Amino acid sequence: MDLLNTLADKGLRRELPTRDEALAVLETSDDELLDVVAAAGKVRRHWFGRRVKLNYLVNLKSGLCPEDCSYCSQRLGSKAEILKYTWLKPDEAASAAEAGLKGGAKRVCLVASGRGPTDRDIDRVSQTISAIKDQHEGVEVCACLGLLSEGQAARLQEAGADAYNHNLNTSEATYGEICTTHDFSDRQETVRQAQGAGLSACSGLIAGMGESDGDLVDVAFALRELDPDSVPVNFLIPFEGTPLADQWNLTPQRALRILAMVRFVHPDAEVRLAAGREVHLRTMQPLALHLANSIFLGDYLTSEGQAGQSDLDMIADAGFEVEGTGTTTLPEHREHPGQRAGDLVAVRRRGAGTALPPNA
Ligand code: SF4
Repeated sequence: MDLLNTLADKGLRRELPTRDEALAVLETSDDELLDVVAAAGKVRRHWFGRRVKLNYLVNLKSGLCPEDCSYCSQRLGSKAEILKYTWLKPDEAASAAEAGLKGGAKRVCLVASGRGPTDRDIDRVSQTISAIKDQHEGVEVCACLGLLSEGQAARLQEAGADAYNHNLNTSEATYGEICTTHDFSDRQETVRQAQGAGLSACSGLIAGMGESDGDLVDVAFALRELDPDSVPVNFLIPFEGTPLADQWNLTPQRALRILAMVRFVHPDAEVRLAAGREVHLRTMQPLALHLANSIFLGDYLTSEGQAGQSDLDMIADAGFEVEGTGTTTLPEHREHPGQRAGDLVAVRRRGAGTALPPNA
């Protein structure tokens, strides 16, 4: 297929596909699906080989959110039966991270529900980052705390955070249909603040909320404008008790096409297979490893994933390998100072004290 050869060639050159080309990927037939996976898989292997990075979520604060994101089980007025609790203490969060790190996770994602952190919350998270990094040298820590106010990204960076996650989720045109308490530009602004403070930006989308193919392409292109280093692709888990409870729109084939489209638009970014992979990709999950180079290990924020060992077995059975702590995830042109594998250890051993490089 000319389209797929063109897209694979562009991906190898980090060249942005046209909007029509990205749309055409979503419109391919089931007969063409393996060709789509093979073409996008070529791009994935070019930038990331057969490595799979493992990430582990720690939910620092769950539920009780004043925002009304309609996909979210923690939203204002949610009737979803989820655990609700306020901030984990730093040592509790560090213990919670243990399980993932023992399973091979390289990155711990510290997530808190809410519109955004207060300055006191930033203090708590800073202590948590120290507690984790003191016990696990070289681990990457990503914070996901909502909308940031002026100066908060810099404080997280100084506290040792490597990355900040804030997803765009859906297209600008449909954002108002899924959330009324903040808007698309608020989200873009937070991603820019994180980047401005030297944090590695992580920003992605949620598919399956009733959006059109055009919306999916729009959010993928809006993300490319921000150029995050990691792009999580979530598939909606329609929680009972939320407005999107009956939105079961995805098939495994569509989920694979969406991942392929995102890979073509973000060829050299860490495309992460995130929430909903088990329920929507089901037995097709191993094929998704040809498209995404990163997954969450184990459970998600308010839902259970498959057991960590099943993920590790799946990776091995599909012919992929877990990315080790001695390997740098991103291609060289995307590396952030201090995030090269081994840099942190080397700098600490040199006794650089406060002269740690940005992001270390
Ligand atoms: S996505 Fe975040 S901001 Fe939105 S309702 Fe859920 S916890 Fe609150």
